[in-house]
Amino acid sequence: MSGSYREQAKGWSMPTEPNPLDTDLVLMNLNQVAKNAGYRVEWGTNELPDSSVHAGVCVFPKRLIQLNTGLRKLPAMAQFVLIHELAHGLLHDVYMESDDGAIRAKHEAEANTVRKLVWPHLNGYPVDFETTLDVPTPAVVAAANRILAQFGISAPGVQSTA
Ligand SMILES: [Zn+2]
Repeated sequence: MSGSYREQAKGWSMPTEPNPLDTDLVLMNLNQVAKNAGYRVEWGTNELPDSSVHAGVCVFPKRLIQLNTGLRKLPAMAQFVLIHELAHGLLHDVYMESDDGAIRAKHEAEANTVRKLVWPHLNGYPVDFETTLDVPTPAVVAAANRILAQFGISAPGVQSTA
């Protein structure tokens, strides 16, 4: 599907209650960053061709981030996916999207790097098991800081890595 980047992940069930976008403080703040950037965050699966595999998607033309409904009772997983998709929303857009594998891989690494920079500040432990940039670019650091600012975190450590 064009116009979007999807993230794959596995290991969730398909509950319906509660909705952590409304009840989880971290997700509420991430949702606010998305809103401020002009993106809507919703639960669903209609933008996820294989909802047993696809955890979330950033659909640039629709200014939409969709999180798999199955993540509703897994706030940490929802947070993990939302930070990544939010990074796409902050860093990339429909005019940057590419079917070129190398470009897509670079964009995925950028989104993963934003998450790697943001995650420890929100959760107190690192995530570094994914493909990330060796050195975060200024744009990636700026995206991470934009997210952390919503939480009142200035993150000088993030800025110093650029
Ligand atoms: Zn992605």
